[in-house]
Amino acid sequence: MPHRVTLIPGDGTGPELVAQACRAIEATGVSIEWETVEAGADVVDKYGTPLPDGVIESIERTRVALKGPVTTPIGTGFRSVNVALRQRLNLYACVRPCKYYPGIRSFYRDVDLVVVRENTEDLYAGVEFDLGSGEARRIIAMSEGKIRPDSAISIKPISETASRRIVKFAFDFAVENGRRKVTAVAKANIMKFTDGLFFRVAREVAADYAGKVEYEERLIDNMCMQLVQKPELYDVLVLPNLYGDIVSDLAAGLVGGLGVAPGANIGDSAVVFEAIHGSAPKYKGLNKVNPTALILCGVLMLRHLGATDAAQRLESATAAVIAEGKHVTYDLKPTRDDPTAVGTREMTDAIIARL
Ligand code: NAD
Repeated sequence: MPHRVTLIPGDGTGPELVAQACRAIEATGVSIEWETVEAGADVVDKYGTPLPDGVIESIERTRVALKGPVTTPIGTGFRSVNVALRQRLNLYACVRPCKYYPGIRSFYRDVDLVVVRENTEDLYAGVEFDLGSGEARRIIAMSEGKIRPDSAISIKPISETASRRIVKFAFDFAVENGRRKVTAVAKANIMKFTDGLFFRVAREVAADYAGKVEYEERLIDNMCMQLVQKPELYDVLVLPNLYGDIVSDLAAGLVGGLGVAPGANIGDSAVVFEAIHGSAPKYKGLNKVNPTALILCGVLMLRHLGATDAAQRLESATAAVIAEGKHVTYDLKPTRDDPTAVGTREMTDAIIARL
């Protein structure tokens, strides 16, 4: 029986990357029936929304999706499809492995981090009050002079429920994947209630795993410095939404940048695999960008589907092509204008040949 998987090509460079990732996944021999659905900026005229209901219905049915990046206009227009998808399917955990593959140009060699980011609340809850709105004025009045009168306001909710769920997820992930340590990251010295709650709950959860997985805490600013100075000391990191977003990109940078960093958004009833990078619209249709991140999403997806041998082969083939350094895209070459760089399709061909 083939595995049924929802496929969201996305927009910008999404469709060309997703097409190549599908080829690489299929080349492992695992039988997959793709259910392709449309989302993103390119379909607003057709459906009146960037996230048609059919997308959610399909993922609810298949429970697994592979997704290309989707453009979010800054400041105006629709809110992020990515955020909406996570909220509607309650994909509360964002898992981003950041592992160094030999051949990639980086100052760091010994990095094998997994960033676990809470995905449903914090400053991403979308509770915002514009400058001059009645709500903003009321909150400013309540703040007794702590907020300037000409402020717009975003609310940062951190709940016990979501904090407990994400920290437990991080510890379970550590146990299942043979990881030794979980580091909780926040700024509890300043945000004593919200981030203080996150650390308190994390400590409570950690107590249940004592003797199995180590636990420690870091303040977010110090964590950023430590990751730049000695990333090899860290293993699984668990963070509230916004810190998690920023630290995932930092960690991706340690191992060679956005082109090689996969991710998964995980809930109790569905999983959506997507790269950390966005739609890189300036490269749309140029067969230029790196397919590795989406192919590594395919590796995570195959593991999730139970096809561990195929996942291992696809990861090894990708690592071998990167290590050889010949058939790789511009971002993996010594200089960005290296004439020997190959395109998205040709790098995928090389990976498939290695399989
Ligand atoms: P981006 O990740 O699209 O691109 C930034 C730069 O990183 C690119 O110009 C390119 O130089 C490099 N890059 C990205 N992906 C690459 C790849 N596969 N290979 C080689 N180089 C790559 O970030 P952005 O420009 O900030 O965002 C563009 C759009 O994507 C925005 O609308 C943003 O909201 C959206 N976005 C979507 C997602 C998602 O769908 N999950 C994630 C992040 C950003």
